Amino acid sequence: MGEANILKTPALCLQIRPWSKTSHIVTWLTPEYGLVVTSVKGACRPKSAFLGQYDLFYTCELLFYRNGRGGIHAIRECVPQERRDPLRSDWRAAATASYLAELTARTMPTGDAGGVYALLEHAFDRLAAGKADDFVGMILWYEIHLLHFAGLRPDMTLCPVCAESGTVWHNFVLADGRFACPHTGAKHAGNGATVRLHADVRRLFVRMSNATDPLPVKKSENFEISRLGLLRFLGIFVSLHLDVPAVVRRVALETLSFKEKK
Ligand SMILES: [Zn+2]
Repeated sequence: MGEANILKTPALCLQIRPWSKTSHIVTWLTPEYGLVVTSVKGACRPKSAFLGQYDLFYTCELLFYRNGRGGIHAIRECVPQERRDPLRSDWRAAATASYLAELTARTMPTGDAGGVYALLEHAFDRLAAGKADDFVGMILWYEIHLLHFAGLRPDMTLCPVCAESGTVWHNFVLADGRFACPHTGAKHAGNGATVRLHADVRRLFVRMSNATDPLPVKKSENFEISRLGLLRFLGIFVSLHLDVPAVVRRVALETLSFKEKK
């Protein structure tokens, strides 16, 4: 293997799977190469050079041998840059980070992923800093922005006639990712499954799309209802368009709703 095959990159550690008794398969997100999967042979041996060098949600400087055929690459070296230790003690923050990592790993193909890398790094930093006290809000915010980078963000625009029709419920066509509308040139009648979205849910979606951080929680019944509507809508939309089984999200949300006995 020549030096030319060695690549160096910052990398977020998304998943670690056992592989044989002593080795790991590690999935990373990198800005330049997208998802990178590496094998770490002997990772669990007591004298392994990799002990303590990586863990879930770390940012590392990663050196790996590029395997031209894709698939699994061999790791050469990795040095932790940001460990985010609170994610090893705050289980709600960890459950949220795990879901974001899994969603990203299932969604991102290889190749340029600079936008998603910055997004996930920001989310991990907030979770580790204890700034994300609203974990469900973090999930919603992340899903919307991940859909954007995947080129799949729902189009929430209404034509002027629909917008001024006085109705607060509009039919959203799931497969097309936009509202059904009989007025515009395309006469978008909306074939296929639709969900009815309330105007408040649409507005909340737009606000979250424009926000560089998850929105603060508002203690109002209206906000709660809109957020539940958005949670339901995004659950359907994400599992349809991002090829993520609904159970993955449900498990994350059920974990977050678990109340500790006082
Ligand atoms: Zn219309």
